[in-house]
Amino acid sequence: MTRDLKNNALNISVFGVVQGVGFRPFVYRLAHKHGCRGWVKNIGEGVEIHLESFKPDAIGSFLKELECELPPLAKLERLVTGRASFSGCRGFTIKKTTKGKSFVFISPDISVCPDCLEEMRSSSDRRYRYPFINCTNCGPRYTIVRDLPYDRPQTTMDSFIMCPDCRREYTDPLDRRYHAQPIACPVCGPKIALFRAKPAKKETGGIERAAGLLREGFLVSIKGLGGFHITCDPFNLRSVHRLRSVKKRKRKPLALMARSLDVIERYAWISEEERIHLSDPRRPIVLLKKKKDIPGIAPHIDMMGFMLPYTPLHALLLENIDLIVATSSNPKDAPIIKNDRDEIRNLCDYVLTHDRPIHMRADDSVLKVTMGTPLFIRRARGYVPYPQKMPSFLASKKHILALGGELKDTISIYKNGYAVTSQFLGDLDDYRNFAYFEETVNHLTKLFDIHPDTVVSDLHPDFHTTRYAEKMNIPHLQVQHHYAHVLAVFLEHHLPKNEKALGIIWDGYGYGSDGGAWGGEFLLADYSSYRRLGHFLEVPLPGGDQASRQPWRMAVSYLNAAFGLPLPDVPSLKNISPAKIKGILSMIGREINSPLTSSCGRLFDAVSFLAGTSPLEMEFEAEAPMRFEAQAADHAGKGYPFEIIDKTIPWRISFLPAIRAVVSEYKKKTPICRISAEFHMTLAQAAAAIADKTRKDFNIHTVVLSGGVFLNKKLYEFTASLLENKGFRVLRNVTYSPNDESISLGQIGYALGRLQQEKKHNG
Ligand code: ZN
Ligand code: ZN
Ligand code: FE
Repeated sequence: MTRDLKNNALNISVFGVVQGVGFRPFVYRLAHKHGCRGWVKNIGEGVEIHLESFKPDAIGSFLKELECELPPLAKLERLVTGRASFSGCRGFTIKKTTKGKSFVFISPDISVCPDCLEEMRSSSDRRYRYPFINCTNCGPRYTIVRDLPYDRPQTTMDSFIMCPDCRREYTDPLDRRYHAQPIACPVCGPKIALFRAKPAKKETGGIERAAGLLREGFLVSIKGLGGFHITCDPFNLRSVHRLRSVKKRKRKPLALMARSLDVIERYAWISEEERIHLSDPRRPIVLLKKKKDIPGIAPHIDMMGFMLPYTPLHALLLENIDLIVATSSNPKDAPIIKNDRDEIRNLCDYVLTHDRPIHMRADDSVLKVTMGTPLFIRRARGYVPYPQKMPSFLASKKHILALGGELKDTISIYKNGYAVTSQFLGDLDDYRNFAYFEETVNHLTKLFDIHPDTVVSDLHPDFHTTRYAEKMNIPHLQVQHHYAHVLAVFLEHHLPKNEKALGIIWDGYGYGSDGGAWGGEFLLADYSSYRRLGHFLEVPLPGGDQASRQPWRMAVSYLNAAFGLPLPDVPSLKNISPAKIKGILSMIGREINSPLTSSCGRLFDAVSFLAGTSPLEMEFEAEAPMRFEAQAADHAGKGYPFEIIDKTIPWRISFLPAIRAVVSEYKKKTPICRISAEFHMTLAQAAAAIADKTRKDFNIHTVVLSGGVFLNKKLYEFTASLLENKGFRVLRNVTYSPNDESISLGQIGYALGRLQQEKKHNG
C-alpha cells in the first residue's frame, strides 16, 4: 500500500507559450480541484509541475484536464512526464521562478477578454469604465516587454506602483489577475489624456469627448497597443479627405473599426470563417467583400478592411460611435508612431493618449479568408512573436539570425527547435524603417537570448540587410529570394526531409542567381537546393524602378514584344503622350536602363493598364492589379493562349499570345469583367501546365504557391482549384504572408538545411 502511494507522484514539464498567460494559477486551481499536492514553477524554458496524490485517479484526471482546458492564451508545444519520488508535500504551492538559460515564448498582445469587458461595464466594479483593464487572459504583452523573464519590472508598467487592491489580486493564486503583469486600476494605473494637437493644449472629457470630436469631423490620433491610429468619421467625406491629405495617401484603402459584427454587416458580407477571424482574440483587420460602399474608403476595390475594438479604450470609444476609420499613424514610408511627441500632432487635430509606454511597435495584422483559410497580407499585432516549430530533422544547437530582404521586411531568429519571426517592419530603403529594423534585431536577440552563430540574408549584394549581415563578422549565408519563399512554405507545413516540390513563386522582384530580375518563377526544390525549372519569358523593364510605379511603361514593353512596331492602337495608351511612348520605345530599343525581367507583378501591371483599370502612376504596390482583380467575374472559361518554350531547362512561358488576345478583346469591347477573369485563368492554366510537365518529367506531386502575387485571391483560387482537380497537393502560407514578410523564415530553413549537410560531412 505504502509503495503504491510512493509511485503516485509525477513530474511534468510543459513547454510552449506558458509564461505570462495565467498558466501557473491555472495549474494551482486544477491541483486543488483534483486534490493534488506539490508545486508548480516557471523554469527557463517553460513550466515544471510536481504532483502527488493519495487518490489513485487524481493525477490522471489532472493531466487530462491540463491538456484540454488550457487558459486561452496558453499554447502547449510539448509536455514531458517523468516519475518522481513521493515527498509528502503538504499542499500545493507556486514556487519562485528559477532563472536559467532561457527560451521562453512570450504571448502576443491579445484583445480585451469578455470577463474584463463585463467588469468594465459594471457600475459597481472598481474598474468601471477603466480603459486599461486587463487580466491574465488578455491585454498587452509583446509591445510592453523590454526584457525577460516576463515580469512587471521588465515591462513598461514598471513605473506604476500597484495599489493595495491590485497587489492583493496580483498575489492571490485564485484571482484571475494573479501575476497579470500589466494589472492596473484607476487608482494606480495608466491614465487617459486628451490634447488639442496645435497649439498643444490639454482638454477635458476623455474618451466620450474624443468620440464627440470624431462626430464633429475632427481627426483624432488614438494610442493603441503597438502604436497610434489616426481616426475619423468614415461618413464625413471632408474628414476622410483631410486624413488622406495628412497621410499623403490619395487612394490606398483605409481600415475601419466597428463597434460590432452587426455594424460591419451593414457594409460588408461576412462568411462564417470571416466572422471567426474578426472575433478572434488576436483581432486582425479582415478584408471583406463590400455590400454597401462607403465612398472614399477603398476606391476602385471590391473589398473593405474591418476590425473590432481590441483594447478597452477602443471598446469605450466605440460605445459612442458606430464606425471609425482607424489607419496606422505612420507618415508615408515610415514606421508607425509610438510616442505622442510632435510627429503625431502634425497628423491630426486631437490626440487621445495615455501614459503606458509602448516598447515595441506593431501594426495591425491584415488578412483575407481565401478558400476557407486566412491569407495574410500583414502579420504583426496579435500574431507576433508566436513561435514556429521547425521540423525535428532540422534541429540544431546553433542560433541563427535571418534578416529577410529589403521591402516588407521581417527578421527571424532560430533557437532550440523554434523560429520566431518579427512583426512587419516596412521597406528598409527608408532610413526610419531601417532604424526600426535595427531596433527589432536588438530587441529580439535580447528577448530570446540569441547569440547568432550564423546570419542569413538575401543574395542581393546591395540590400541594406546584406550589408548589415556582412558587418556582423560571423558566418554569413545568402539565399535566393524565391527559394526562400518556397522554404517558408516547406517549414510551415513541415514537409519531410527529402520531399521535393514544385515552387510556383510569383512576385514583383527578387534578385536571381544570375543577377537578373526574377519574379515569375518555377523552382524544383527541397530543403537543400533548388533548380530553376522555368520562368516567364523576359521582357525589358524600361526605366527600372520607375516602371514598377508606372504600369503604362510595362504595357508599352509588352506591346512591343507582342506586336513589334508600330504598336497597335490601344485606347488606354491614348492618355500617354506619343513623345513619352517614343522615349520608352527608344530606351528599350537601345537597351538603356531597361533590364530584362521575368516578373509576374509587372505582367499584371501591363495587362491592368491595357484593360483600362490602371492609374497613370500607382500610389501603392499592386494598385493596378488590385483594381483589375476587383473587376473580374467569378468564373472564367479556359483563359487566353500562352506558349511554353521547352527545348532546354529553364523552360520559358510566354504570355505574348495572351497579350495579343487581351488587345483584340478590348477592341471588340468585351466587358472588362470577362477579360479580367480570362486573364487570371490564363495564369492558372500556365501554372497547371508546368505542374503537369513537372509531374511527368520529375515525378513531383506537391506544388507550393507563394510570392506576393498570390495575395490576389482570384488568381489563387483559380490556380489552386485547377491544380487540386489534377490531383496535386497544393500548399501555401497560412500563418505567414506569401509576400516578402516570409522571406526571413525561409532563410532560417535554408541555414538549418546547410547545417545538417555540414553535420553529415563532418560526422
Ligand atoms: Zn481580461
Ligand atoms: Zn490599482
Ligand atoms: Fe517576393
